Amino acid sequence: MEKVDIVIVGAGVVGLAIAWRLSTLKKEIVLLERHDGFGRETSSRNSEVIHAGLYYPKDSMKARLCVAGNRLLRELCREHDIPHAMTGKIVVATEESEKHKLEHLFDQGNRNDVSGLRLLNKRSILGLEPHVLGVAGLWSPATGIVDSHQLMAFFAQSAVDAGVIIAYGHEVTGLQQAPTGYCMEVRDTTGEKVFIESEVVVNAAGIGADAVAAMAGIDIDAAGYRIHRCKGEYFAVADRHRGKLSHLVYPAPTAVSLGTHSVLKLDGSLKLGPNAFYVDRLNYDVEAGHQREFFENARKYLPFIDYDDLAPDMAGIRAKLQTADESFRDFVIREESDRGLPGLINLIGLESPALTASPAIAQYVEDAI
Ligand SMILES: Cc1cc2nc3c(=O)[nH]c(=O)nc-3n(C[C@H](O)[C@H](O)[C@H](O)COP(=O)(O)OP(=O)(O)OC[C@H]3O[C@@H](n4cnc5c(N)ncnc54)[C@H](O)[C@@H]3O)c2cc1C
Repeated sequence: MEKVDIVIVGAGVVGLAIAWRLSTLKKEIVLLERHDGFGRETSSRNSEVIHAGLYYPKDSMKARLCVAGNRLLRELCREHDIPHAMTGKIVVATEESEKHKLEHLFDQGNRNDVSGLRLLNKRSILGLEPHVLGVAGLWSPATGIVDSHQLMAFFAQSAVDAGVIIAYGHEVTGLQQAPTGYCMEVRDTTGEKVFIESEVVVNAAGIGADAVAAMAGIDIDAAGYRIHRCKGEYFAVADRHRGKLSHLVYPAPTAVSLGTHSVLKLDGSLKLGPNAFYVDRLNYDVEAGHQREFFENARKYLPFIDYDDLAPDMAGIRAKLQTADESFRDFVIREESDRGLPGLINLIGLESPALTASPAIAQYVEDAI
């Protein structure tokens, strides 16, 4: 049996950021990923927005790690030439009844130390975005976009250069306490089983993180760790609208999502998304039948879009801790000594803004270790 100091499960942006951060510790570290490359699940199926930290209650982990991650991510991108753009974003109210949502975000963002927030009237929205309709707006200059693939490639390469072993095609199928740490059963792509012993296990398995916690013997329902999968689809907008928007434009948020917004890509192309609905079965298909709903939502604030401008594009799955009827749940990032599982660090429910927060999450995990 192979013995190492730290095993990280999952090569999404969170596991990779942790591998990068821990690689300076001079420990033997292995990162196990079931797919044959990094970022094959949620980390490459999202809006790639660098969030500012408007949407989360003060002092929640989501708020603190988003605001800290925003700063760290921007520094990393600048220092290592990772493609990104600080486009800023406008949240628009399309009717008077939504104005209070913007005021709430403005107050909450200020409480979270988000910089530069400003409430906008109809005229100042048009000054920033001449093609956008709204009765009121909220301007967030600390919001941007990042190339998440390049970010993950940076984390992966830096970790490997510093000695971390990334084992693709290796799925963790069992996890038991051993005299010094944990013994993990791992299945490779040929179906062959291997066993690895490690003092520390960092569970960054995304939508599979509750299953990994259960392997360690945690009752995921009693612990509140069960993940509810919430799908988000995107529709591409016809190329004739490339360049029409220069900032991200969001509607007022709903209870489960930030609303179907404009997704500006670094190449100037435009998408709409994501919607939000809970699913039992995992697939990344986009239902063409949802085009009408996307169009109706978008045309309230992006009146230049026609129905035929939209085409199904891609989908991602949110790892939510809350069900459709529940309100806010925070990230779980927890060393499990008090459950009798010292050295096991679970990261569960890492939905948005975990891409933004990834460098701050990695710092938090390093402190926990
Ligand atoms: C539609 C959508 C839009 C979003 N938009 C944004 C945004 O704009 N900004 C933002 O900050 N965040 C956004 N997010 C959230 C962000 O994408 C996620 O929080 C982040 O990607 C989570 O990363 P992760 O590494 O935890 O998970 P993942 O990327 O899912 O990685 C987990 C990895 O673990 C592996 N794994 C699972 N089980 C096992 C096992 N047993 N053995 C080995 N490997 C295993 C998986 O294969 C996977 O590669 C969005 C999410 C969605 C769904």
